[in-house]
Amino acid sequence: MARYTDANCRLCRREGQKLFLKGDRCYSSKCAIDRRAYAPGQHGQGRSKVSDYGLQLREKQKAKRFYGLQETQFRNLFDKAERKAGITGENLLILLETRLDNVVFRLGFASSRKEARQLVNHGHFQVNGRKVDIPSYTVKPGDIIKVKEKSTNSPKFKEVKEMSITVPAWVTVDVEKLEGKVLSVPTREEIDTPVAEHLIVELYSK
Ligand code: SF4
Repeated sequence: MARYTDANCRLCRREGQKLFLKGDRCYSSKCAIDRRAYAPGQHGQGRSKVSDYGLQLREKQKAKRFYGLQETQFRNLFDKAERKAGITGENLLILLETRLDNVVFRLGFASSRKEARQLVNHGHFQVNGRKVDIPSYTVKPGDIIKVKEKSTNSPKFKEVKEMSITVPAWVTVDVEKLEGKVLSVPTREEIDTPVAEHLIVELYSK
């Protein structure tokens, strides 16, 4: 599958806000947004007026980059959101939030969604006692996400055990056991992603 390999910080600078793509660095003084708060490239400091289409496009790019998806994956998820009952934009955010890689990140088992995806890919997690190494796997209420027994002694997860982790209301975590549970489907209010999802719906509805 295609993968974005350029500098992650360029993506934040392009969107004009922190997308938290690099773990601890995002919370340090080394964050590129804090140092150079303008778009990358030759014309980065010169852009001003943005069309409606431009606004919609930027919002879609922001959401896509926030969750680390490629265009096709994102579009497929949007189509799925459209087929579901309810508000398409909210459905889309819920589908993004309930991806296994995002949940692993939300549970505090990874410092970024990118790292979470890698850890899932490498088979470190079980869902309801069965190994799941598919980052796009959709979790549902009642699911137990657990670090595989063999991985619990790795330096990464030993470090996690030392941390104090705050999680959103729709999940719980037992850091000692390296185990989390999905309590409910997140509501829009429980999703803090800084995205105006209606603009994405408008863009794809053209
Ligand atoms: Fe974005 Fe993190 Fe880079 Fe800051 S350090 S620009 S938040 S990826």
